[in-house]
Amino acid sequence: MTSDRKRVAVVGAGMAGMVAAYELSKRPDLDPVLLEASGRLGGTVETMHADGFTVETGPDSWVSDKSAARELAEALGLGSELIYSNDAVRRNYLVRGDQLVPMPDGMRMMVPTRWLPILESPLFSHEARMAYLLEPGRAAELKAEAQAQIQARGEDFDEPVRSFITRHFGPEATETVAGPLLAGVFGGDIDTLSAGAVLAPFVRQEREHGSLIAPAMAQLERDRAEGRAPEPVFTTLRSGLSTLIERLAAALPAGSIRRGTEVASLRRCGTGWALALAAAGTGKPERFDAVVLATPAHVTRALLTPVHPEAAALLAMEATSAIVVALCFAGEAAAQLRVPRGFGFLVPPGRALSEEPELLAGTFMDQKFPHRAPPGGVFLRGFFGGHAAPRMMGWEDGRIAEAARLQFAKLLGPVPRPDHAVVRRWPRSLPQYAVGHPARMRVLSGYLRELPGLALTGNAYHGVGLPALVHGAQKAVSALLPAT
Ligand SMILES: Cc1cc2nc3c(=O)[nH]c(=O)nc-3n(C[C@H](O)[C@H](O)[C@H](O)COP(=O)(O)OP(=O)(O)OC[C@H]3O[C@@H](n4cnc5c(N)ncnc54)[C@H](O)[C@@H]3O)c2cc1C
Repeated sequence: MTSDRKRVAVVGAGMAGMVAAYELSKRPDLDPVLLEASGRLGGTVETMHADGFTVETGPDSWVSDKSAARELAEALGLGSELIYSNDAVRRNYLVRGDQLVPMPDGMRMMVPTRWLPILESPLFSHEARMAYLLEPGRAAELKAEAQAQIQARGEDFDEPVRSFITRHFGPEATETVAGPLLAGVFGGDIDTLSAGAVLAPFVRQEREHGSLIAPAMAQLERDRAEGRAPEPVFTTLRSGLSTLIERLAAALPAGSIRRGTEVASLRRCGTGWALALAAAGTGKPERFDAVVLATPAHVTRALLTPVHPEAAALLAMEATSAIVVALCFAGEAAAQLRVPRGFGFLVPPGRALSEEPELLAGTFMDQKFPHRAPPGGVFLRGFFGGHAAPRMMGWEDGRIAEAARLQFAKLLGPVPRPDHAVVRRWPRSLPQYAVGHPARMRVLSGYLRELPGLALTGNAYHGVGLPALVHGAQKAVSALLPAT
């Protein structure tokens, strides 16, 4: 019996691929098939459970002010599972020497919204404080400079994060705050990351207002005047983010998920596409009416090269690796630890070049999300990235966990052996949006119009965070096969 429904392949079952398959499955005229190389769904989303600890080995939450991930969770019946960060203890530290120095209160990434904490912070010299204080008064000059750049170099003008932030807050604040922040979030380098891609809202603000501080402070004032309480910064799911993946999988038609199925090549086949599967050896490629590639950038690039080399060349981006280490302490061990109040710390990236591999960031998980640990438990999560991660990839788990424990001990004082240690390697998992990324993505969209029935989605394009991925996958599907 033949069906007149269109067969659509989704390649890669990370968050982006799962959402794409789910969106396709809502359409009665489509027959989605999800092809995943590994034996597991979720890609870098992975939750483990041990003695009351809920361990996220990849993403731990999403930023609350972007709604797509929350709306998806609600649509999947997970509304009652949503939990929020414990912002009563929201404080981040920066590592100076072997000390944890609090970031000033009221920072919106690297943009202050309150003066007193900046003036009192030991992180900044007199010059750095003055640079912050003077920025709102330079609004007209900053706006004119931004417009002159657009006039000289076109709407696509882009620059490294370093020069963008330095123009506003001077070199010291850039080095002190922007460097560790961007390394901690993107595993990236402020000399190469694109301001237009990773700081898009700030770039828009500069073009509109000149100053970054003035609109941030004005927004805070408006919220206060209208009695709007700030919402918790991060949202996650009580039972862990893997629940979202499980719910997405459960919503797909029976038999539509094929694990252990690596796609080896892609080629045009009439009005559709043919996919060759690595395990199928010399077997006949499988034909689909449409294909969504939700694979990491380097895989998508390889699949796309024979079909459209110019489009594929736009995906020649670096991706840094990450190693996540979870150290869980209960009972006696937890009682011995002295962890300051806060969500965690960031480490200036230059230090990761030192002899001993250094963490790029650490999270005090049981404080950020108290549901992640049993009562009285302490849960520290460390992130090795940048130059340290490739060096440590081949180390045994025990050696990596011990390196993380020693790093925490340097900053917190004695750290006993944990009751549970989890080490997870994520090679080439964090794509780096280099200067010019937004313009390259616009060119790529143009090329894709030459390839009907093919869509690309995932963290290589318009954001690496979970809300951006959910939104991106939904958009990719509706553009690929508009509902009639
Ligand atoms: C350590 C870490 C922490 C993070 N923390 C956060 C956070 O707190 N909040 C947040 O919002 N974001 C966070 N991120 C970012 C976010 O998790 C990722 O951007 C996102 O999960 C990537 O999803 P994806 O679907 O694009 O790709 P992936 O998760 O990489 O999935 C791609 C899938 O494709 C499969 N595949 C590859 N090749 C083939 C092939 N040839 N055939 C078939 N299948 C193939 C892979 O096996 C994989 O399952 C973090 C990322 C990392 C690495």
